Amino acid sequence: MRNRVSDRAFEAALDRGRSADVDLATALTLFRGAGRRNRSERLFRAAAEVRDANLGRTLKLTAHLHMVTRCELSASCKYCSLSSTLPSVSDERSPLTLREAVQGVRFVASKGVDSIVLVGGTDLEGSDAQLRRLVTRVREVTDLDLAVDVGPSLSERTVRWLGRAGISPIYCSMETIDAGVFQNAKPGDNLAARLRFMEMVERCGGQLGNIVMNGLGTTESLLRTVLATRRFPHTTHLHISTFHPVAGTPWAGRRPASLRSSLKVLAIARLAFPTLQIGLAEVGVENPRELTSVASQLAAGGGNTLAGVLVYKRARMDNLGSIRAQAIASGFTVAE
Ligand code: SF4
Repeated sequence: MRNRVSDRAFEAALDRGRSADVDLATALTLFRGAGRRNRSERLFRAAAEVRDANLGRTLKLTAHLHMVTRCELSASCKYCSLSSTLPSVSDERSPLTLREAVQGVRFVASKGVDSIVLVGGTDLEGSDAQLRRLVTRVREVTDLDLAVDVGPSLSERTVRWLGRAGISPIYCSMETIDAGVFQNAKPGDNLAARLRFMEMVERCGGQLGNIVMNGLGTTESLLRTVLATRRFPHTTHLHISTFHPVAGTPWAGRRPASLRSSLKVLAIARLAFPTLQIGLAEVGVENPRELTSVASQLAAGGGNTLAGVLVYKRARMDNLGSIRAQAIASGFTVAE
């Protein structure tokens, strides 16, 4: 099936991609046609050229602070460590106290990153007060750029408050636009609430970050999800995560998604959205293999913001040295 894409069809799709003219059929032709290595290299090169032309080759490094709010979903998502029956695994995502969060911010600020993403769980009832308290406190500690990623857990009032405080982007991971796939993977979550939240952020004039997951449904469903970014013209950041089975979770026995397929999706996303910040999503504590992918994602058109420091309740990962080395070897300048 994969290799049935003719050279002619692949080249025509690549030409359309170079003009950002990527519909679902084009995206599928590129994905399936790039099953051959020489074609995937051509796809990656085209995406990298589009990235260079629109964003250049300067890389910014960010830090992610997990988890600034408790996830109240019941049941937890089937791939998330919170759904693990093993306490040593589910504890990886224990929420930080305010004091621990501030200590984490001081730690990452000392590392020379450009921005901090405050990452928390989903509370469909709202995490407004907690998040405002945290942002106010963090602002007393650092003037680094801040973003928040707590799903659809905030009221319109708080989203407007974040806008006035210069917090951007506001993330809400769509994961998949396919309602059936979403429901299966995230039985305690609500896709409609996520889409409504993203619309509300745009209505408030805010910028959006989005994460889609490779490994939840079919390739077609994944590419449709990536292209659904067009529904949200205020999107500035788009990340592709790669499903990796976590011990003790309902999906512990599921086959992992391949990093190479994520790279192909990343390259197609770059062609479709030339000016966005696009990259693989880090899931550091659960899947350290992603660190090895920095050079690969830059070669596939990713950039120009990468997570270099990850702070969890019981783990701190400083990957800045490795990322800087890979970026410089790839011909990038790293912003200081
Ligand atoms: S919403 Fe996020 S934190 Fe909550 S269970 Fe799902 S993946 Fe885990």
